[in-house]
Amino acid sequence: MNLKKVTRGFYYTLLVGFSFTLTACFKGKSVDLIIHNAQIYTMNEKGEVHEAIAIKDGEIVELGPERQILNKYTADEEIDAGGKDVYPGLTDAHGHMLMYARQRLNADLVGSKSFDEVLVRLEKYQSKTNRTFIVGAGWDQSLWVNTEFPTNEQLNKLFPTIPVCLMRIDGHALLANDALLKKAGIDEHTIIEGGEVFVKDGKCTGMITDNAMLGVFKLIPTYSERELIGSLLDVQHELLQYGITGVHEAGVEFEEIGLFKKLIDHHQFTLNTYAMLTPSEKNIAFARKNGIYTYKNLSIRSFKVMGDGSLGSRGAFLKKPYSDSHNHFGALLTPIKDMKRIATICELTGYQMNTHSIGDSTSNIMLNIYKGIFEVNKDHRWRIEHAQVLDPKDFMMFSDYGVFASVQPTHAVSDQRWAEARIGKERMKGAYAYKTLLQHCGMLALGTDFPIELTDPFRTIHAAVQRKNADNFPAGGFYPNEALTFEECMKGMTIWAAYASFDEARLGSLEKGKEATFVIFVNPVNSAPEYRANFAAYTFIKGQKVYSVD
Ligand SMILES: [Zn+2]
Repeated sequence: MNLKKVTRGFYYTLLVGFSFTLTACFKGKSVDLIIHNAQIYTMNEKGEVHEAIAIKDGEIVELGPERQILNKYTADEEIDAGGKDVYPGLTDAHGHMLMYARQRLNADLVGSKSFDEVLVRLEKYQSKTNRTFIVGAGWDQSLWVNTEFPTNEQLNKLFPTIPVCLMRIDGHALLANDALLKKAGIDEHTIIEGGEVFVKDGKCTGMITDNAMLGVFKLIPTYSERELIGSLLDVQHELLQYGITGVHEAGVEFEEIGLFKKLIDHHQFTLNTYAMLTPSEKNIAFARKNGIYTYKNLSIRSFKVMGDGSLGSRGAFLKKPYSDSHNHFGALLTPIKDMKRIATICELTGYQMNTHSIGDSTSNIMLNIYKGIFEVNKDHRWRIEHAQVLDPKDFMMFSDYGVFASVQPTHAVSDQRWAEARIGKERMKGAYAYKTLLQHCGMLALGTDFPIELTDPFRTIHAAVQRKNADNFPAGGFYPNEALTFEECMKGMTIWAAYASFDEARLGSLEKGKEATFVIFVNPVNSAPEYRANFAAYTFIKGQKVYSVD
């Protein structure tokens, strides 16, 4: 053996080894993923924008200039974002995934241009599904030539024996055929508090609203779990393709908690789900037993309470009568004493109270109830969902009692056709008043209320900033003085939405140590006078790619 050679070899190995160590040391730590050549809108307090981000174990390690991140880290996967916009994953702060999943299994009546079209769609649906109980949803008579509520005569001719239940788009009114009315025990003499059974010429027309619908709901058969899960995963896919990575699910029944957990365990359900419980006795018992509850990406610490109905079906509870219905005020759906009981339970369990409140009277009642929690907990974040019509005198209570408003800008531009008719010009000053609400709340949580509106967050931006619908109507914007800025709108779907669910330490902005949940968008994210569709190129949740466009 030539010792010289061996020694030389040894030194060579040492040298190579050393230089390798030097490079590794120079390159710094290895991470799982680097996104670079991007416009990363962090949504942090300073509003910083960075070029690159390093991610490990589902968390953000560092953000900074491209060269800094690429020099400092080596990654298993690098994505050159081609200069595209990156935002924290968007949150829909008020949506109904389960309702949407069920609706997708129902006959789809959204956008029907007449009641005849509703009937045609039902016939087609039934020929494909052959159901023994037909549920349809999404019709809206305000889009028809005759804007009166429909009656069920033609429906009875088409379906004389199978029960048929057709939900209005707002979920606060339905049309039932006679077979269903009979099954539900509803006739022209039925009187139900907090709801209405419509009667014409001494006969039920089939239209019923709010609490009167509850008896019908009990009869609706459930879809099989397999069908429901398949549909829910479709909903998830639709949300991810818009870059929505979190939903505040507004109203979950006890049994559905188990369904979500099962989905999370077995079906790759990755959306951050902030589930608001309905105040059923089972759910109240759940809250008392578990307190603030987290199961992977599911978190439960709030109750969703129904304050009133909708403005469209005149169920919203107003201080003064509707402008287009004589001496009609709408109604409170949950008695005040029950509201107070739920408030006490929320206080005891550390839960948040989120009340569906459309009318000015309901909001006034709820804000006065919320005053109690503010006295014992300044950071309660209890929410008014929708806050659609407010008495200008009551805005102050949002700031005085630290109340969060959760609003849906697309409602403003969808309701523009009839809102003024319902409440008159004077009350419009406090309606869909997002700018004023923001001034009083300091933050707003934004959502869509899907499936009542579409899931598309770019419609929300257009509605909030331009105050227009996707057809760019009206040209000057609907009450444009109440527009939000683009930045405010993006905060409402990211960091403010995270505050609204107590998730700001983990979600809502792209900062070191937070969850690597973000979206790379196909088109620049901005707001222009003309609506422009946009989608995610990639959506990541906790560092995992959960959606990609190709
Ligand atoms: Zn809702």
